[in-house]
Parts: sequence; structure tokens; C-alpha cells
Amino acid sequence: MRKTVEELLRNLPSLEAVLGDPGFAPVLARLGRELSVRLLRRELELLRQTVLNGGDLPDQAVVPAALAARTLSSGNALLAPSPVMVVNAGGVVVHTNLGRSLLSDQAADRVAEAARGYMTLEYDLTTGGRGSRLAHFDGLMDDLFPGYGFLIVNNNAAAILIALKALAAGREVVVSRGELVEIGGSFRIPDIFAASGALLREVGTTNRTRVEDFTTATTDRTAAWLKVHTSNFRIVGFTEEPTVPDMASASRQAGVPLIVDWGSGDLADLSPLGIRDEMPVRKILEAGADVVTFSGDKLLGGPQAGFAVGQPDLIAKMRTDPLSRVCRLDRLKIAALRETLAAYARGTEFEEIPTLKMLALTAEEIAARAKNVIAAATRLGADADRMSTRPGVSRTGGGSSPTGERPTILLAVTGKNGDEGKLEAKLRQGSPAIIARVQDGDLLLDLRTVLPHQDDIISRRLAEILRR
Ligand SMILES: *Cc1c(COP(=O)(O)O)cnc(C)c1O
Repeated sequence: MRKTVEELLRNLPSLEAVLGDPGFAPVLARLGRELSVRLLRRELELLRQTVLNGGDLPDQAVVPAALAARTLSSGNALLAPSPVMVVNAGGVVVHTNLGRSLLSDQAADRVAEAARGYMTLEYDLTTGGRGSRLAHFDGLMDDLFPGYGFLIVNNNAAAILIALKALAAGREVVVSRGELVEIGGSFRIPDIFAASGALLREVGTTNRTRVEDFTTATTDRTAAWLKVHTSNFRIVGFTEEPTVPDMASASRQAGVPLIVDWGSGDLADLSPLGIRDEMPVRKILEAGADVVTFSGDKLLGGPQAGFAVGQPDLIAKMRTDPLSRVCRLDRLKIAALRETLAAYARGTEFEEIPTLKMLALTAEEIAARAKNVIAAATRLGADADRMSTRPGVSRTGGGSSPTGERPTILLAVTGKNGDEGKLEAKLRQGSPAIIARVQDGDLLLDLRTVLPHQDDIISRRLAEILRR
């Protein structure tokens, strides 16, 4: 006979009874008494609610051993590291959802050091007085962008917001309708305008805007022109957007500054890698942009940060805006960023910075690794008939260059009775998680974005899921 609510509630053990049960001792040892009590109380309350809501409570759910197991697993979930590390075999180098750029060893070492000690963050050792946190970049930024001013804040969205607020609040900024983009993660140009207090003056059409549209729209209310890198899409066909050089000379004639949101902002010339629709920031400045903003963790390959580089008087206005303080860099980022920029100054960026190293890998190098992985997986017991290599493309990603594709060699696992989705989920849910993709009945892995020391992990996990 079904128990009544009262009987079920009476069946629930007391907190003290469970805590005192020998079966609960390992939970106390692992989580400590206070956390164990908080979590156990919650488990008991959940059971009580289940009963009050008319649910059943099997006897085995209320034995101390069951409650101990549930408390332990909620404690483990609470304390487990998060985000967890994954192996990115998806072939998108700057993958926003997977953390964009990896730091170089040099930068990571500096972060570890900076995390543990006091430092001259805003302190001048010579005078014993106050220093400036951006002064740590003076030398390197002058080397990279001689003659220009700079501001570095928490991310590019902040850099644009500060540029619009400091240079154009209460006045108009002219933008092409073809560039009113959403970058993802709810970063929309019109929203940034609303937050900055600058007034958006749209010109042109979605597919065609000319420099004359900007000139015609410019009045004494105009504070600036803005060009936005349409970095994650491309309108193809009957299109026209004015180039930076065209806009720069016209904006100078009109007497208003040109702000360029260059999105990804590569410092290195990537055209030798076949990435031709990206122009290094220096070229954008040379073309006449007055302020260029860009991210630190896209093609630049450093930590999350936002740069503004340009005319010293404009940058000075941005620096004194209170938002620059609100969005300032923390010391770990400063340590990482300085070391990343130092690689560019040394000319060793393609040897040190993971994002650039990955992009620079040739299809032949990736093919050799894929073949080694297949051979190792086969030795470990994977079904060799299901693994092969084939040409494909890796993507730069991260709203960097929309057509930025690099030829690669994919490791393909042939689906059997439509099991490719299951195999993908197994890789994703195993430990460590491996991110791969499914396409046309196959499971595809791109080793471009896999760190070389992780190739062994891939072999081992392929052997597990493809056991003969
Ligand atoms: C990525 C991107 C942003 C946002 O940069 P965050 O550093 O993520 O804030 C802004 N504009 C463009 C064109 C971008 O590509």
C-alpha cells in the first residue's frame, strides 16, 4: 500500500542521524563539516519537497549511504575546477567559446609569477612614488607604433565604447549601414552607441555605401566617422564599402577624425599564410585612420584586452575618461600582454605565440601528425579501417577574418550505421573533452588547433571509441 505523506516524511532521517552515520565519514573527510552540513541539509530539503509535491520516496533513497553519495557528488560538482580544459580538434584557431587565444609559454610564466607576488604595478622604484600602469607598455608600444598614442583596456568593446564616449558624446558619428554589425555575445554597434551617448548617424545601404555618403552626412554636429571591420560575415555580390584610405582622406578634408574598429587587429603580416583580407594595424594607421581599436586575444594572440592606437591628442582624451579607469587592465593581464608584445618586438612572434604558430602550420605538417595519430590509435586497438586523412579547411575564427581559411588535412572517422554523432559526443563528454565536428556522416578532427603534446590524448581516445 502507498504510504501517506506523513509516513513518507517520518521516513526521512534527521540531519544528525546522517551526519553520525559511519557511511557519511568519507564525505566529512572530503568536504569538511560545514560544507557537508550545508549540502546535506539541501539534499534533505529536496527530498521533503518531493514528498510534499506528491512524489514517492523509495526507502533506498533515504538510507544514509544514498544521502552520503548524493552529498558527495554535489560537493564534488561544486568544487570541481571550471572551466575545464578541452582539446580543440575543431580547427577554429581563435574560438571565442573555447577561450580564443592561448598564451605563449613566456606570457604564461609571467602570469604565474605576477599572480604570486607584489610588483611595480603603479609604483616607481626610483622615486618611491606613484607610477602608471600603462607606462609598462610605453617602450614596446612606441617600438610597434612609433609616434602614436595608445590606451589599453579590458577588451575591444570597451575601447570602442570609450572612443565614442570620449570623442563624440552628445554629437554624431557617421557609420555605414553595411557595418552596423553584431559581433556575437550581444555586442551590437547600435547598443555601444546608446551606451556611449554618441549619436549614430547611419548612411548608405546594407550592401552599398560610398565615401560621398559620409561627406554628405557631415555637418557641424558630426564628431567622427566610424569604420567597423565586418569581421564575421561578408556581403557578397553587388557591394561597395569605402576603404580606409578613401575614408581617411575624405574625413581629413571634412575635418573630422576617422575611428576604425579593426576587430581582430593583427600586428604581424599574415599574408604569407594566405590570410589576405586582414591588414596589420600599422597599415591601417599609415592609411590615415586617426584611432584604431582592436582585441588583444584574437589574431594578436595575447590575453583578453582592447587596444586603441592613434593620434596622441585623441588618445589623451580617451585616457582621461573615467571609463578608462572602469575598464582598466589588471596586473595578470599586464604581465601577459607585455610578454606577448615583446615577442613582436623581438620578431619571434611566429615561434612563440600559439595562435600564430597554429596558423603557420602547413597542411603537410598537419598530415604527418594525423598519420602518426592514426598509427598510434591502431596500435592501441582502434579499427584502422575507419580512420583516414583527407583535405579540408581550418578557420582563423573569432570574428577575425571571415574568409580566413587555411588548407589542412583532417583526420576523418567514417561513421558506421550513423554512429558519428555518438562518437562526437563520446569525445566531447570524455576526459579530457575533445571537441571535434560531424560532417556528412563523418567525424572530423583537425590537428591544427591541437597542441602537439595532445596528439597522444587523441590516439588514446580514438582507440577507446573505435575498439575493434
Ligand atoms: C571581436 C570584435 C569586437 C569585440 O572585441 P572584444 O575584444 O571581444 O570586446 C568588436 N569589433 C569587432 C569588429 C570585432 O571583430
